[in-house]
Amino acid sequence: MTLLETDRPALDLEDIVESAAAALAGAPAREVIRWAAATFGDRICLTSSMSDAALIHLVSRVKPGIDVLFVDTGYHFAETVGTRDAVEAVYPVNVIDVRPSRTVEEQEAALGPRLYGRNPDLCCHLRKVEPLGRALEGYMAWFSGIRRDETAARRDRRVVEWDRRRGMVKVNPILDWTQEEMDNYVEDNGILVNPLHHDGYPSIGCEPCTRPVAPGEDPRSGRWAGTGKTECGIHL
Ligand code: SF4
Repeated sequence: MTLLETDRPALDLEDIVESAAAALAGAPAREVIRWAAATFGDRICLTSSMSDAALIHLVSRVKPGIDVLFVDTGYHFAETVGTRDAVEAVYPVNVIDVRPSRTVEEQEAALGPRLYGRNPDLCCHLRKVEPLGRALEGYMAWFSGIRRDETAARRDRRVVEWDRRRGMVKVNPILDWTQEEMDNYVEDNGILVNPLHHDGYPSIGCEPCTRPVAPGEDPRSGRWAGTGKTECGIHL
């Protein structure tokens, strides 16, 4: 039984978010995850880009068997798909592939080739934002692995927040982690990482929209390079 299923008067989800956001600000990731697992039970899932399995490892230790949603855009690197398969084999989670309503071929037939080059916002909407939104409909809350230091748009986020667009709760347990903390966690726990990280890709998205970066460059500068775009839209 989760906290939401007790016989106390019905709680408003947005009120829960407000009090949890204040109570859990600055709390260790594990404490945030425990709160979310106790509150939402099986009505919470985790989303992963398969860049690394740090959050998957953290959450699966508290809540084994959790659904992990992987948005399979059809444009991923082979290494990303391989990481997805390795995660499924190694961690006690239920990996679910989330696919756009059109295959790459169907999208190209309908909208022309290389939509990612002509209108990356539309391509991200069709291949990431819309399918994930559909997949999240069965849940009350979702875990995300965003970190404050990744982009300017993530700087003011909260560990627990109301996802207004989807009408659900979003939980960001590693929001305050630095890259150094992430690296230490990966090393100390032997976490699976996408091999592209060792090949000059500190941030990994779809293959047509991700290039390697040089040492000292902004780690996110290889994403949609030269377009001014910094977010796919899932986390806005
Ligand atoms: Fe399309 Fe690029 Fe967005 Fe992937 S990252 S969905 S290829 S625009």
